Amino acid sequence: MAKQEDVFKKVISHAKEYGFIFPSSEIYDGLSAIYDYGQNGVELKNNIKQYWWKAMVQMNDNIVGIDSAIFMHPTVWKASGHVDAFNDPLIDNKDSKKRFRADVLLEDYCAKLEDKAQKEIDKAEKRFGETFDRVQFEETNSKVIAYREKQKAILSRMAKSLENNDLADVKSLIEELEIADPDTGSKNWTEVRQFNLMFGTKLGAAAENAMDLYLRPETAQGIFINYLNVQKTSRHKLPFGIAQIGKAFRNEIVARQFIFRMREFEQMEMQFFVAPGTELDFYEKWKQTRLKWHLALGLGEENYKFHDHEKLAHYANAAADIEFKFPFGFKELEGIHSRTDFDLSAHEKYSGKKLQYFDPERNESYVPYVVETSVGLDRLFLAIFSNCLKEEVLEDGSQRTVLSLPPALAPVKAAILPLVKKDGLGEYAQDIFNDLKYDFNIIYEDKDSIGRRYRRQDAIGTPFCITIDHDSLQDHMVTLRDRDTMKQERVPTSKLRSIIDEKVNFRTLLSKI
Ligand code: ATP
Repeated sequence: MAKQEDVFKKVISHAKEYGFIFPSSEIYDGLSAIYDYGQNGVELKNNIKQYWWKAMVQMNDNIVGIDSAIFMHPTVWKASGHVDAFNDPLIDNKDSKKRFRADVLLEDYCAKLEDKAQKEIDKAEKRFGETFDRVQFEETNSKVIAYREKQKAILSRMAKSLENNDLADVKSLIEELEIADPDTGSKNWTEVRQFNLMFGTKLGAAAENAMDLYLRPETAQGIFINYLNVQKTSRHKLPFGIAQIGKAFRNEIVARQFIFRMREFEQMEMQFFVAPGTELDFYEKWKQTRLKWHLALGLGEENYKFHDHEKLAHYANAAADIEFKFPFGFKELEGIHSRTDFDLSAHEKYSGKKLQYFDPERNESYVPYVVETSVGLDRLFLAIFSNCLKEEVLEDGSQRTVLSLPPALAPVKAAILPLVKKDGLGEYAQDIFNDLKYDFNIIYEDKDSIGRRYRRQDAIGTPFCITIDHDSLQDHMVTLRDRDTMKQERVPTSKLRSIIDEKVNFRTLLSKI
């Protein structure tokens, strides 16, 4: 089995074993691509939301937040283009009976070509050592150039065929490249078909007059239909943004990658409303701002890259993804899209209501243009969780599993551990708990050996363990153990709050943006 697969399996089993993520409805054998967050998962997820909300809404005086309903008038989805165009091209393998996204098969093929190009570059780097000029090599090496040109040709032909709804050509491309089912090697494919990803439901009790509704496939439309309400009540001038965190639902064709691709998931989206003609500048600015926000988490600069879109969605005039190196390779983490005035103009047309903005500087009214940043909360959770999960070999040769989460995001900030419960140590520890509980999410634990308790806290990413021993009752000092260095030091009980706060507060994280 490939090593990457082992790592990913370990991530999934650790998430379950330590109360982060459970398969939904597990006692009924689960529900495909639906997951529940457990006691530690919900804390981590809430902290990630806070990091985003603080950075986007609270730290920008021209961005406000909303929380719109999941159900919206069905015409919203007609206007947005989702009823007609929110499709994925699907293809089945006739032998394995497995279903795939045709575009993903082609993208994965291109990713393999890129791997080959990278191998050539790495080989040359080894050969030439310090004198190696990477840029020059990439621009002149015939093999690297050929791999990259081939990728470009494939992706632009796919983009064109999908845009023209020429699904037969997408199949031809798959056949010409001799792409096989990755699990079985079979090249026996069906035709490519379009599949709409929206879940339908009904509003109203009586079957004859019930209204067909959709579960929202993105949170963005809730922002567009409230744009004027927010603009008027907040009195913000352009440019300004509206942000929201909420559930989205997509009937994904293929959902085999844990919480990377779910059918019910959460998005954190921000629509930035700007004057026409200025959108591409803001688009560039938001690309950089969002990348910086990710980098502040400290997961490693080499694990991120931009991917500029060849195939633009029906609403966009520029689009890029921030990709992250997941255990299964570089994949989209966040999308940044210049959505033009497509959505607001469409809602004007379908609703018959004016959604214009009077610009006092230009002395004219227009429909604002929109730059959107859209990140999947669950995908971000997976990125952070998988990157931070580490197996370490210690000096004495033993192993430990540690989840080295950014301290502000850790589910539990400190564990209060009396060496034993008797002799008044339990009470002393409880007093510390009662003092710190107003400021931090902490836990008290008095079972098992101290070593085992440390290991359990390492495994859920707790930055500090506080151990109370017999001396503590006399000198009011406790042992503070650091998760990452495993160093232990005696500190006064009265200093605990400020020491913990300095490490775990959001200011420390946010000031890096
Ligand atoms: P993909 O190409 O992976 O299907 P997308 O381009 O359709 O994603 P967007 O519509 O741009 O995704 O959605 C914005 C963000 O929402 C994505 O960057 C991703 O983080 C998240 N997201 C989209 N679909 C899912 C899903 N099925 N499960 C979890 N997160 C998702």
